[in-house]
This record gives sequence, structure tokens and C-alpha cells, in this order.
Amino acid sequence: MNNEIVVIGCGVSGLTTGLALLQAGYSVRIMADKLPFETVSALAPAVWFPYNVLPIDKALVWGEQTRNKLLKLATTNPRIGIYAIDLVEFYTEPTAEIWWAAGVPAHRRLKAAELPKGYVDGTLASVPMIETPLYLPWLLREFARHDGEISLLKEPINRIDDIDAPIVVNCSGLRAHSLCQDEAVYPVRAMIARVENPGIKRVTTVQTAEHITYIIPRRHDVILGGTSDKGVWDEEVDPAVIDAIIERCTILEPSLHRAPIIEKRVGLRPGRTAVRLEVEQTDTQTIVHNYGHGGAGYTISWGCASDVVGLVKAIK
Ligand SMILES: Cc1cc2nc3c(=O)[nH]c(=O)nc-3n(C[C@H](O)[C@H](O)[C@H](O)COP(=O)(O)OP(=O)(O)OC[C@H]3O[C@@H](n4cnc5c(N)ncnc54)[C@H](O)[C@@H]3O)c2cc1C
Repeated sequence: MNNEIVVIGCGVSGLTTGLALLQAGYSVRIMADKLPFETVSALAPAVWFPYNVLPIDKALVWGEQTRNKLLKLATTNPRIGIYAIDLVEFYTEPTAEIWWAAGVPAHRRLKAAELPKGYVDGTLASVPMIETPLYLPWLLREFARHDGEISLLKEPINRIDDIDAPIVVNCSGLRAHSLCQDEAVYPVRAMIARVENPGIKRVTTVQTAEHITYIIPRRHDVILGGTSDKGVWDEEVDPAVIDAIIERCTILEPSLHRAPIIEKRVGLRPGRTAVRLEVEQTDTQTIVHNYGHGGAGYTISWGCASDVVGLVKAIK
């Protein structure tokens, strides 16, 4: 056995965790059958928002750590696609304080005059935006700059104990369902349209019992969503669902009317009853699991990576 730590996965979780381990002084090799641009991580827009992730108490701590780290990165690395953006949430019913607001100091309730027709309440927060087409390549470059190695596999890893390493960090996302026979992992299907940006500058979200609707502008496009189909593995785009998403978004943001559509996509968020971040000791290996981040893989990435480093330090 060699002494490298092997990280399974090259999405945002694997890359962030691998980089954090390198920065802590460990030798790291990522093993994955997909580079980040082919993973669900590349499909996310992504905005800091603790959506569809459990447990809430830990997500808040990881989220706040990640938010601070991202804002620091935005200052030191202005060209990696991270910047603060306004995020508004509209509600059809009066709402108590939202649970994630504690982690966001620049947060206030909207005045009645700021609400669109049909909404009775709303909040405004300033949160980090992470433009994934810039941020994922930066993570890759940073990983290489710190002498991290990547093995791109032609075949998937079927068993973690086939890997010749004493410590393996498992960032396999949704596919932990089969890799670890983990029945607590499930897909949460997201359908989105990517359209040209007619000049939108703030994120808008609405969650009702029937739908989640969001408008996430980036410098060169806007992501319109969405769906949150728990347990659905089908990755076919349904044109009728996309049309309905575009219609809901255009009601919220009329400038989207006739915004040219760039693409329609489906992605499966790695849902789990709770993020699995823990050590598993087998006869031959120590495995640190870090998967099941739901709709918040970016939002909690650095907080989770920091916990993995802490667990690895306690082993070695
Ligand atoms: C439409 C959409 C919008 C989203 N928006 C946001 C957002 O705004 N903010 C946010 O924080 N999150 C968002 N998310 C959620 C976020 O994208 C995910 O939580 C995150 O990308 C999960 O990353 P990951 O690295 O854990 O998994 P993945 O990106 O799926 O990466 C998994 C990696 O593991 C490798 N792997 C897995 N199994 C094996 C195996 N057996 N053998 C070899 N390699 C293996 C794969 O090759 C891959 O490299 C969104 C998701 C979707 C679909």
C-alpha cells in the first residue's frame, strides 16, 4: 500500500476536499471516471443556498464556513467566478424567520411595495454566486498547483477495498447509492433551461407546495428552474415541464419573455436522509465518507472539506 490519500470523485466535493487535504500537507490522488465538466457539479449554476440538504443544524455550520471562505476567495481571486449577489425569496403566505438567515448577515425582509402581485412576504439576502464554468477549472488548477494527482478511470470503481490506499475519502455523490449499497441515497431530479441573460442581476426563488421556481443570472446566461423530483432517476428532458418552468419564471421576471433558449437539461441532485460525513473502519482501510449533499453541494463544500481534514488528522 502507498501512503497517498485517495479521494473518489472529481465533482465539487472531491475537488474541494482533495484541495483542502493538499493544503493541510497530505499527498492526494483523485480517482474518478468523470472529470468535473461531465458531472452534476457542472450543471449547477451555482448560488450559495442551503437547499434540499440535511441535517439543518450541520448544514448551517458548513454553509457559514463555506460562505466565509467563498467571500474571501472572491477578494483574493477576482477572476474565478465568485462574487456577492442579491437573492430574493417571495412567499405566498407570511413566513417566520427563515432557518438559514442566521448564516447571512446582510439579510432583510422585503417591504410590501417590493413584492410582486400574488405574494405577501419576501426576504432579500446577499449571498455568494459561484459561476461553475470558471470555478471548477480554478479548483482543478489549484489542485494541480498543489501537486495533486488525478487518475481518470475508464471503468467505475466497484468496490472501495479494491483501491490500494490506507485512507480513502469517498466523494462519489449520488453514485454512493451503488458503490456503498447505501439505500439512504436518492436522486432529486432537477429540470432546467439555460437562456441568454436579458440583463437580470439578482437571484429570485419561490417555493410553494406545488413548485420550486428559480431564476439564477450569471454573467453570460440565466438558469431557470426547476423541479425537485425526489426518487426519480429518469434523465429525459420533458419539454412540457420546461415550458411550464419558463412560463413561471417569465411571470416573475417579464424581461425573460423571448430570451433565446441555449439548452434544456436534467440533473440528479445527490439526495440523502442526511449528508454522510463520517469515518468507516474496515479490516484493511479507513474510509472517510463525504457525500449526499443534495441541492447544496457548493453551499457546504468548504465546511465539509474542513471536517474531512479534521477526521483524517485524527486518524494519522
Ligand atoms: C440543476 C441543479 C442546480 C443546482 N444548483 C445548486 C446551487 O445553486 N448551489 C449548490 O450549492 N448546489 C446546487 N446543486 C447541487 C450540486 O450540484 C450538487 O450537490 C453537487 O454538484 C454534488 O457534487 P459531488 O461532487 O458530491 O458529486 P458529483 O458532481 O456527482 O461528482 C461525483 C464524482 O464521483 C465520481 N464517481 C462516483 N462514483 C464513482 C465510481 N463508482 N467510480 C469512479 N468514479 C466515481 C464521478 O466520476 C464524479 O467525478 C444543483 C444541482 C442541480 C442538478
